[in-house]
Amino acid sequence: MLGQYPLFDSFCAAAFMIGLFVFALGLLNNLYIWTKGMGRGIISTGTSIIVAIFSPRLFHFFGAILDSFIHRRLFKENILRGVAMVSIIVSYIGIIVVNHVKASSMPELQSISHLTRFLYSPFCDFYFFRTVSEATFTHQQALYALLNDGFGFLILVVGEGILIYRRFIKRAYVFKMKEADIFAVIILGGWFALRFLAEATSILSFNVPDSIASYWFVAFVLSKIIAPLGLHWPDFYIISWCLSGIFLGTLVGTIPFNRKLWHIVTAPIAMVVNSLSPEQHIFSKQADEIPFSKRQLIEIDACIKCGICAEHCVAYKHTKEEHAVSGGVISLISERLRQGYGFFSSLIDREPHTKESQDWFATQVYTCTLCGRCKEVCPININTRSLRVSMREYAVREKIAPNAVNIALGAAKKVHNVLNYPNADRLMWAEFSDVPPEVYSDKKKAAVVYFVGCMTSFSPAISGVAEANLNLLYQAGEDFAILGEDEWCCGFPLIVAGLSQEWQWLRDKNVEVIKMMQAKQVVFNCASCYHTFKHEYQEYLPGVEFLHNVEYIHRLIADKRVNLGGIKGRVAYHDPCDLGRGCGVFEPPRKAIKSIPGVEYVELPLNRRLSTCCGGGGDLEMVNADLVNKIAGSLVEEFDESHVDIVTTACGQCKRMIQNAIKAKGSKVKVMDMAELVLAAGMEKK
Ligand code: SF4
Ligand code: SF4
Repeated sequence: MLGQYPLFDSFCAAAFMIGLFVFALGLLNNLYIWTKGMGRGIISTGTSIIVAIFSPRLFHFFGAILDSFIHRRLFKENILRGVAMVSIIVSYIGIIVVNHVKASSMPELQSISHLTRFLYSPFCDFYFFRTVSEATFTHQQALYALLNDGFGFLILVVGEGILIYRRFIKRAYVFKMKEADIFAVIILGGWFALRFLAEATSILSFNVPDSIASYWFVAFVLSKIIAPLGLHWPDFYIISWCLSGIFLGTLVGTIPFNRKLWHIVTAPIAMVVNSLSPEQHIFSKQADEIPFSKRQLIEIDACIKCGICAEHCVAYKHTKEEHAVSGGVISLISERLRQGYGFFSSLIDREPHTKESQDWFATQVYTCTLCGRCKEVCPININTRSLRVSMREYAVREKIAPNAVNIALGAAKKVHNVLNYPNADRLMWAEFSDVPPEVYSDKKKAAVVYFVGCMTSFSPAISGVAEANLNLLYQAGEDFAILGEDEWCCGFPLIVAGLSQEWQWLRDKNVEVIKMMQAKQVVFNCASCYHTFKHEYQEYLPGVEFLHNVEYIHRLIADKRVNLGGIKGRVAYHDPCDLGRGCGVFEPPRKAIKSIPGVEYVELPLNRRLSTCCGGGGDLEMVNADLVNKIAGSLVEEFDESHVDIVTTACGQCKRMIQNAIKAKGSKVKVMDMAELVLAAGMEKK
C-alpha cells in the first residue's frame, strides 16, 4: 500500500520529518541555554535523583508526576482551567500512543522500519480508509477510531473551547495575548481540525459504510454536514491529509521556539526537578556567569502563563501591570536569555536595548515585595521568589538596576546599614529603657545574642518593638547581649536587591562577633534577618540556634518558664512573609497567642501560606513607596473586615507598615509585636 501514493507518502511524512528536525534544533538550542546555568551537573543531579528515590521525597516525586498530568493546583484555582489543561495533555499523549499502536498493527505498514512507521503513524488512517470493509473491520479498530476522535474532541471542543471561552468571552485572563500565543492556539487546534476534515473527506471518498464510519464519530458527523456540498471528494481528501501533515510538521517544529508550546515539554520536567530536592538559592560568583541556576532556567521555560500568580499578587492588585508579576516578568527574562545566550543568537542582528527599555525592564523586576505568595499557587511550583532575586542579580550585572540599589550598597559600605544612619546610634532606642545597660551591653560573652536588625534599631516608629524584646529577655532571666555598633546589617536588603557578590562581608562581621560571644542562641524580632540567618549563616555558625521571638516566646510558655496574666479582645496573627512562607514558622505564634488568658483568637481568612504581604518586603519601598502604602492599606482592610481588636505580627517592618496604614485609614485596629503582646498580657518569670 505504501508507495501507491507517492505524493502523499513523501509529502506528509516529509513535513512531519522536517518538523521533527527543526524541533531537534530548537531542543538543542534550549538545552544549550540550560547548560549555561549555575549549579549542579548531570552526575550530581543523577545522584540526587537516586537519593530521593530512597527517601520520603519519593512521594513528592510521584506527586509531581501526577501533577504533570492533572495539575491539581489548577483544579483548585479553577475547575474549568484544570479540565482544559488535562484535556489537552492527556489527549495529545493519547493520540500519539493510539496512532502508533494502530500503525504497528496495520499490515500496510509492516514492511517499514519502526522509525519510518513512527513518521507515518499520524497519517495511518489515510491508508486505512482505502481498504476497510465490514468483513475486515475489528473491535480493536473500532476502539482505535473511538479513541482517536475522542482525544481530538477533547482537545478541540473541551480544551481549546474552554480556553477560548475564558479568554474571549469571559475575559478571565490576565496576560494579554501576543501573536505567538494566537499562533500556538491555532496550530494546536488546527491540526485536529484538519485531521477531522481529512477523515471526513476520506469517508466520503471511499464510501465507508456508516456502520464503520460512525466510530470516527466527529469525522462522521462532519462528513454528513459537508456531503450535501456534492464536491468531488477524491480531489479533496489527499489535499486535506497533506494540509494536516503541514500543520503537524509546523506544530512540532515550532514547539521549542514558542513559549506557549514549549512549556508542554518543560513544565513536567520543572515539577519533577523541584520535587527531588528543596530549593536553595545559588548566588552567582563570577561576573561573566549567567545569574540563574540550571533549575531556574528550566523553570523560566516551564511557566504556562496561566496568570494565577497575578490573581494572588499584592502588587498587581494595585498596579494592574502584567509584566511585573511573576508570569509576566518570566516572559521578559526568557526573551532576553534567548536573545543573549541561545545557540543561534549571534546569527541574529538585534536592535540594542534603549535606556528607556532597560529602565522599564528594571522597574518590572523590582516591582515585587518578594512575598512568595505566587509560588504557593503556581501550578508548576516555580520558585518565583528565588527566580526574582536572580533576575535582580541579572539587572545588577547588566548595570540597569534602579539607582536606589547603588545608594543602599553605598550606605552599607559606609555605615554598615542600608538606612544610612551612623551605626554607633544602633542602641539609641535603649536609652529610655529601664533595663540596666550592663545586663546586655558591652559584654564579652553571652549565651543569647539578641539581633535587633536595622529597621527596628533605627526606626523611631517601632522602637517599642526593640524595647519589648529587650524586656522579654530580661524578664525571662536570660544571659544575653545586644551587639550595638558591632551588629551590622544581616545582608538581606542587599541580597534581595540582586547584589549577590556584595553582602558576604556583612555576614562575616556578624559571624565573627557572635562567635566571639560564644553564643548558643541568636534571637530575632525581624523576620527578614531571621530568614537570612536561617538560609545563609547556618554553615558559618555551626551549633548556634537561630530563634525568632515567636518561637522563643512559645518555648517560654510551653516550658512553663513564665506566667501570663491576660488580655481581653479579638486577637489575630499576621504571618510575615519571610517567617511564614520563607521559613515555615506558622504554628508557634498561634499557639502562644491562644495560650494567653482572655484572648479570643481570630484566624484571618488569608493565613499561613496564603497570608497577605504588608508591602514592606523585597526592597519595594526603595523603588515605589506609594505602592507599598497601598498594599499595606489593603491588609488593614482585611483586619477590619475580620473585626479584630489587635493584630499581632512578628517583624518590625510589618509593624511599621501596618501602623502607618492604620493611621492613614483611620482604622481602630491595634498592631503589636509578639513580645509587646505577651508583655501587655503581664508576662512574669515563674
Ligand atoms: S509563574 Fe506560575 S502561576 Fe505565574 S503564570 Fe507562570 S505558571 Fe502561572
Ligand atoms: S512575590 Fe508577591 S509581590 Fe512578587 S509577584 Fe509574587 S505575589 Fe506578587
